Amino acid sequence: MEYHDSEKAKEVAGRVEDFMEEVVLPREREALATGEQITMDEIHDFWDQAKERNLFAPQVPEEYGGQGLDFQDMLPSFEQVGRSLIGALAIRANAPQEGNMHTFEMVGTEEQKEEYLRPLVQGEIQTAFAMTEPKQGGGSDPKMLQSTAVKDGDEWVINGHKWWTSDGLNADYYLAMVRTDLDAHPYSGTSIILVPSEADGVEVVRNVPHLGGHGITERKGGHAEVKFDNVRVPVENTLGEENEGFQIAQMRLGGGRLTHCMRYSGMAERSLDVAKAYLAEREAFGTTLEEKQALRHRIADAETRLHAARCMVRHAARELDRNDARIEVAMAKMFTANVTNETIDLALQCCGGNGIGKDLPIAHFYENVRAFRIVDGADEVHRRSIARWAFEDIDEAEVENALQFDEDLRIDALDE
Ligand SMILES: Cc1cc2nc3c(=O)[nH]c(=O)nc-3n(C[C@H](O)[C@H](O)[C@H](O)COP(=O)(O)OP(=O)(O)OC[C@H]3O[C@@H](n4cnc5c(N)ncnc54)[C@H](O)[C@@H]3O)c2cc1C
Repeated sequence: MEYHDSEKAKEVAGRVEDFMEEVVLPREREALATGEQITMDEIHDFWDQAKERNLFAPQVPEEYGGQGLDFQDMLPSFEQVGRSLIGALAIRANAPQEGNMHTFEMVGTEEQKEEYLRPLVQGEIQTAFAMTEPKQGGGSDPKMLQSTAVKDGDEWVINGHKWWTSDGLNADYYLAMVRTDLDAHPYSGTSIILVPSEADGVEVVRNVPHLGGHGITERKGGHAEVKFDNVRVPVENTLGEENEGFQIAQMRLGGGRLTHCMRYSGMAERSLDVAKAYLAEREAFGTTLEEKQALRHRIADAETRLHAARCMVRHAARELDRNDARIEVAMAKMFTANVTNETIDLALQCCGGNGIGKDLPIAHFYENVRAFRIVDGADEVHRRSIARWAFEDIDEAEVENALQFDEDLRIDALDE
């Protein structure tokens, strides 16, 4: 499908595609076939190769070691890397690191960019975004945040309990969302504070057991449960303005949701490619499965919906490069999450037992994609925002205007 992305975007994506075909996908196939995990040394080797090919960290400004692409221009490259379980990792465009880099870039001080962003891009440090808390803390409704930071001289004293902190097992720093003004509404009394995992009082309780997660690399980021018990950090560790944590998180999530859409649409596309190849080759009941109308129609629907999702993501990316695009991103995220889930489920079904088996990547994709309807805002939370937007202009005058009809004309029509 031709999307008329910019020349720059297409040029980089073409090189990313070559890298995927020549380096990443062959290694992924081998790992799936042998069960041997891809080592950290190999991942570092991917990064070196990505740098040589000028593909490394497309989302990061050039001065910090990336390719300096905006959302529209990184989009086709992110779709390409999403085709593999390890594609995004191989060019350092994987969540949550990619979203955290974006956050440092947007709101970090020059000192913070030097101290954290530069080594983060190079993979010398890892970070994790710690918002969600066990019940009754922050989750779908982040206003319920309970973790706190209180100033004591020139230090924050942090107490709280987080979980589902992606990459939290190997993070060097947590970007912890904590209440910093308990008298204010959470929207104007929350901050993001950088907490070193080595600080006294930080306890990684466990990797929360979850669907999937048996990765093909030896990298152990996990989804951590973490406790902060009177953890002291300097006030300079505040990321962005104090008490503006919600606004910063919203900026982070806008981009993070869209880049998830880009990667997951690549995953869905590859699943369809695998399924179509299987259907073209496999025979049953006198023909190849490709000939069965019942399957052809479902593939046609999946192609159509995936195309619609990609168009929505492109539109949202264009808007996000100009302003905050909150509703466009909510629509694109909710729609793409559902389309990619349905597409991967269909692809799995088409491949029969091979879909469940792990010689092919589809079963891994299936385990991975389900969370997309929950992370970064569950479907229902996005529908809530979209519905609020849909109804916000409906005032009395609007109602009267929309529902008005000319009663005389109706009576005349009835008389006739
Ligand atoms: C794989 C994975 C990775 C994650 N990574 C991170 C991370 O790095 N950092 C982080 O901070 N968090 C992370 N999370 C947490 C994730 O953001 C939350 O799970 C999500 O925001 C939902 O919050 P919750 O789990 O508390 O669900 P709850 O808030 O308890 O909601 C439960 C369900 O209720 C429904 N619901 C909620 N609100 C409404 C409503 N208004 N109307 C109707 N239905 C509603 C939804 O279906 C929702 O799924 C991750 C989660 C997963 C599964």
